[in-house]
Amino acid sequence: MQNSAQPLDVNDRLLASLNPQQHEAVVTLDNALLVLSGAGTGKTKVLTTKIAYIIENGYAFPSQILAVTFSNRAAREMKERLLRLASGVGDVWLGTFHSICARILRSHSDLVGISGNFTIIDVDDQSKVVGQILKEINLDKKIANGVVSKISRWKDKGITSDDARVDASSLEGRIYKIYQERIASYDSVDFGDLLLYVAQIFRKHPEVLQKYRQKFRFILVDEYQDTNMSQYIWLRMLSPLGVGLCCVGDDDQAIYSWRGAEVGNILRFEKDFQNTRVIRLEKNYRSVGNILEAASSLIANNENRLGKTIWTDGEKGDKVLIRKAYNGFEEAKIVVARIDDLCRNGVPYGEMAVLVRAGFQTREFEERFLADGIPYRIIGGLKFYDRQEIKDIIAYLRLIYQPNDSLAFERIINVPRRGIGASAVAGFHAHARRNNVSLFQAAKEIAANGLLRPVLRSSLQDFVHLLESLRQSDVGPADLAKIILDKTGYLKQLTSEQTIEAQTRVENIRELLRALEDFDSLGEFIEHASLVVDANGSSPQDLVTIMTLHSAKGAEFEAVFLVGWEEGVFPHNLSLSEGNIEEERRLAYVGVTRAKKYALITYAVNRRIYNQWQTNLPSRFLAELSSRHTGSPLHPVKTPIKE
Ligand code: ATP
Ligand code: MG
Repeated sequence: MQNSAQPLDVNDRLLASLNPQQHEAVVTLDNALLVLSGAGTGKTKVLTTKIAYIIENGYAFPSQILAVTFSNRAAREMKERLLRLASGVGDVWLGTFHSICARILRSHSDLVGISGNFTIIDVDDQSKVVGQILKEINLDKKIANGVVSKISRWKDKGITSDDARVDASSLEGRIYKIYQERIASYDSVDFGDLLLYVAQIFRKHPEVLQKYRQKFRFILVDEYQDTNMSQYIWLRMLSPLGVGLCCVGDDDQAIYSWRGAEVGNILRFEKDFQNTRVIRLEKNYRSVGNILEAASSLIANNENRLGKTIWTDGEKGDKVLIRKAYNGFEEAKIVVARIDDLCRNGVPYGEMAVLVRAGFQTREFEERFLADGIPYRIIGGLKFYDRQEIKDIIAYLRLIYQPNDSLAFERIINVPRRGIGASAVAGFHAHARRNNVSLFQAAKEIAANGLLRPVLRSSLQDFVHLLESLRQSDVGPADLAKIILDKTGYLKQLTSEQTIEAQTRVENIRELLRALEDFDSLGEFIEHASLVVDANGSSPQDLVTIMTLHSAKGAEFEAVFLVGWEEGVFPHNLSLSEGNIEEERRLAYVGVTRAKKYALITYAVNRRIYNQWQTNLPSRFLAELSSRHTGSPLHPVKTPIKE
C-alpha cells in the first residue's frame, strides 16, 4: 500500500473529532472491517471520514473507491459531507447497489445479450409484463402482483430463472422464465436483474471481474444489516478476501426482511473473511440521554439480537413525551401544537419530522399542516392525494360530478381493466371532436350506436350505466366511493393480490373513505381535494418532513414526532399476524433514535374506519419504554375536538 508522506495537518483535521474506536475504524485499511454498533454512534461518519482519509492520504484515487448507501438520498447526503472533507470526491463510485450495478451493466451489457441502452423497469411495468403473460396462458391477470413479488424474492436471494431452486413446473417458476425472456426482448431489466446480471457477468467473464477487483481498492457499505443475499454474493465476488472492505451496520436496525434482507449477513461476515476486525462504537453522539435510554429500553425487549452497549455523556435532555389523543384529528392537532411550541423555541421546521408506520397515516397530518400553514414535504413516497389509487377514485368522483371532465374519463375508462383499450379510446376522441361532445358523451353514444364488438359494447355500457346511475343517486360522497369500489371490482382486485403494495393501497383507500365522511356534498370534496393538490406545488426550503419509519433510516432531526402508536397500526396488523413483532420493534427503535433532542409519541384512542369508530389499544411498545425516561407533561391542546 502506498503511503506517501502527507502533511500532518490533513489527518489532524480529519481525525481530530473522532473517538478512539472511530479513529481505529477509519485508519484500518488492510483487514476486512465490520463496524457493528447502535444508532447514532457515528457509523456513517466513519464511512465518510474514511473515504476522505483514503483520498487525502493518496491510498487510492477517488475512482478506486466504491461506497454503497441504502438510498439515492443517502448517497447525495454523503457526497455533500464528503465535499466538505476532501477534494476530487466526484469520482468516487457512490450510490445504491442498484445504481452501481446499473453503471457496471451499461458497460458490459453485450455479455448478457442486452443493449447498453437498456431501460430499467419499475414494479408497475413488471406487473404489466406478468399480466400480459398470464393473459396469454388464459389465467387471471389479478395474480400478477403476487407473481412479481415471488420473482423479486427469488432475485433477492440470487436465484435466477434457471436455478434448480425454482420449481420449473410451478406456475411462478414457468412465468419467471417467460418473464425474463420477455423483458430481455424489450431490452429492459428490473431492479433485481441489475445485481443478477452483473453477478452473471462476473462469474462467466473472469477478466471483467478481475478488472473491477483491481479497480475498487476500497469498498465501503453503509446499513449493512439490510443487505440481501444477492447483494452479499455480489460483494463477495468483488472482494473475496475482504481486503479494503468495510461494512457498517446495526442488527437492531434491520427492517427490510420483508424485502429479502438477511441480517445473517452480519453474523456471516467474521466467518467469511479471514483476519476480520470487528469494531464496536459505543458512544452515541446524536440523542440526549433520555431519548437514548428510552430507545435502549425498548429494543432490549427483542430476544433475537447481538446486544450492544451504547451510552452518551451528553445532557439528559427532555424526556420522551407520550401523548394520548382522543382521535386522529386531535392527534394531528397535538403534533401541530408541539411544532409551534418548538418553533417558538428556535427549532427550524427543517429539523422536525413526523414518522409514520404506513403511508395512509400521512393524510391527517398533511391536511392539518395545510390548514395551519405549516410547510411540509413528503419523503420516500407521494403526497396522499398524488397516489395512484387515490387519484383513480377521485377521477371517478370527478366524472360523476362533472361529465365533461375528459381527463378524469381517460384516467379511469380502463381502470380497473375492462377491455377498453387504446384504439377504443382513440375512437372516443375522434367522435368527441367531430360532434363537439365530451369523451364521456362520445363513449355513451358509441356504446349505443357504434360498431363495436359485443364484449366491448357491453363493457362500455356497464361503465356508462354505472356512472349515470351514480349521478342520479342521492347518496353522500363516501357512499358513492364505496359503490364505485364495489361495482367496478377495484377493491376486490386489490385485496385478491395479497402483496404489501396492494395492502398499502387498500389502506390508503380506506383513509380516503374516512376523509370523504367529512363532506356532505361531492362538490365540496372535489373542491377540497383540488386545493390540497394545488397547495402542494411550490415549496420553501424550511419544511417539516413527513416520512415512513422505513425511509427514515440513517436520518436525524432535532425533533421527531412518532404517531399512531396503537396496536394494529404500529405494530402493524400484518406483522401481528405474521408474528414478526421483533422487526416492528426494531422499526420503533429506528424511529426513536432519529431524534436528537425532542421526541413526542402519540396514540389515538379512537380511529374512524369506514365510518365506524374503532377503539384501539395503545401500542405495546409504549409500555416497553422505560418510564424513567418518558413523560407526558405537555400543555393541553385547547382547540375543540371536531369530528
Ligand atoms: P445510524 O445508526 O442512525 O445510521 P450512525 O451510527 O450512522 O447512525 P452517524 O449518523 O454517523 O451515526 O452519527 C450520528 C451523529 O453523531 C451525527 O450528527 C454525527 O455527525 C455525530 N457524530 C458522530 N461521531 C461524532 C464525533 N466523534 N464527534 C462529534 N459528533 C459525532
Ligand atoms: Mg448511519
